[in-house]
Amino acid sequence: MSEVRVRIAPSPTGNLHVGTARTALFNWLFAKRHGGTFILRVEDTDLQRSEERYTQNIFDSLRALGIDWNEGPDVGGPFAPYTQMERLSLYQEFAQKLLAAGEAYYSYETEAELEAQRDAAKANGKPYAYRRPSAEVLAAQQADASRTKTLRLAVPENRGNIIVKDAIRGDVSFDSSLIGDFVLMKSTGSPTYNFAVVVDDALMKITHIIRGEDHLSNTPRQALLYEAFARLGLTSAELPVFAHVGMILAPDRSKLSKRHGATAVSDYIQQGYLPEAFCNFLSLLGWSPPDGEEIASLTRFAEHFDLTRIAHSPAVFEMDKLNWLNKHYIRELPIEDFARLAQPYLQDYDLSEYSHEHLLLMLDAVREPLTTLADVKAATSYFFGAGVTLDAQVVGETLMSDEASTVLGAFALQFRENVSFISPQALSDGLKELIQSLKPLKAKAILWPIRAALTGRVHGADLGKTLYLLGREKVLLRLDSALRLIARPPVSS
Ligand code: GLU
Repeated sequence: MSEVRVRIAPSPTGNLHVGTARTALFNWLFAKRHGGTFILRVEDTDLQRSEERYTQNIFDSLRALGIDWNEGPDVGGPFAPYTQMERLSLYQEFAQKLLAAGEAYYSYETEAELEAQRDAAKANGKPYAYRRPSAEVLAAQQADASRTKTLRLAVPENRGNIIVKDAIRGDVSFDSSLIGDFVLMKSTGSPTYNFAVVVDDALMKITHIIRGEDHLSNTPRQALLYEAFARLGLTSAELPVFAHVGMILAPDRSKLSKRHGATAVSDYIQQGYLPEAFCNFLSLLGWSPPDGEEIASLTRFAEHFDLTRIAHSPAVFEMDKLNWLNKHYIRELPIEDFARLAQPYLQDYDLSEYSHEHLLLMLDAVREPLTTLADVKAATSYFFGAGVTLDAQVVGETLMSDEASTVLGAFALQFRENVSFISPQALSDGLKELIQSLKPLKAKAILWPIRAALTGRVHGADLGKTLYLLGREKVLLRLDSALRLIARPPVSS
């Protein structure tokens, strides 16, 4: 294979979409696998919808995911510029060459006339395809100064079937008679997507075009353009290899949209999904590793990445799977990294209540059940502040019984003075002794009220670690408030 050159060509009309991120990732993995070049090109010719902040979001999100590029607007490269609005003169140049060679021509219909043509075809039950008007009609239109002109490709008559060779789908055939002479340059002077994409892909020597299946229907038009360029000797006659990846669907099998939750990569990252987990998840949306190992680094996936293992059927965006992966990656993080990443979610707390070492111990103690980084806020809330809010249900179910009073009384007696708060182990041992001394009460009947009194809930971090981190002062303070509450329960209305 000649040097692999692949690209991602996002339009900055929104934040980086998960579908575009998946396409970027597949191209990146393919480039890595073959020691090739991955190019980022910004397709910003839709002036109405393109915005600089979206370009920035796309760059930032790709980088956050660990997807870097060898050539692009910011890093340059041998085929610069990599932003379409900076390449307008190239499109104009190609347009003029096609025009001069009779491969393209100007058309002058108004929007209303085109609409009428489409309606007429519909009324006759025929598929619509624009055809060049007769020489007389064209001349009359041209003479009418009120009309604007668009440049169209002269699709060769009797071109027959266009066969698109797709590495995922095999040969896909399109009937060229159904393809009208399509627009290359709009009346505004800007190129259409199909025209600009082929000029760029050809000039940038792209060898493989891996993209969403939604672009399959554009491919015969693009093939016709490659053929026209080749006839003029503008580019090589060889078409890139196409690979159209199945779409990403929501769990209800409809198109993934905002209605199903976030669609932008940056939203997921903000919600506390780790970029590594998200990338791992994206890799599995339509591709599967040959060894069946679903959790692996991108470097590892890149060793195996192969277009033949990409599914043609759509992939379903399963939130449960993303959550499962994220949980895994959170648990695997070195604790210092976890602490750094958790920091933004802990801004409401006074972290100076704890030493760095104790914070690490706390975060390690709560992380097992976390699904996202954002969950760390709720999971650590009871460690901060002197007291703790006891919710009515917890009080009613766990603290309002004779057993609970006995347990808390015994706990107070033992922990007020006899147990040292020197280490989590010392406190676990203290709890074990308490359980022994309160037999035949079950461990659960002992630990639940203690946890409820000290943390306001019945689940949480290991109790020995919790007691150690809270420290004697907070423990006794909270215990005393719980004991007061039991002695004088709130009057229920
Ligand atoms: N700008 C197009 C898109 O974002 C690029 C399509 C292509 O890869 O050819 O869908």
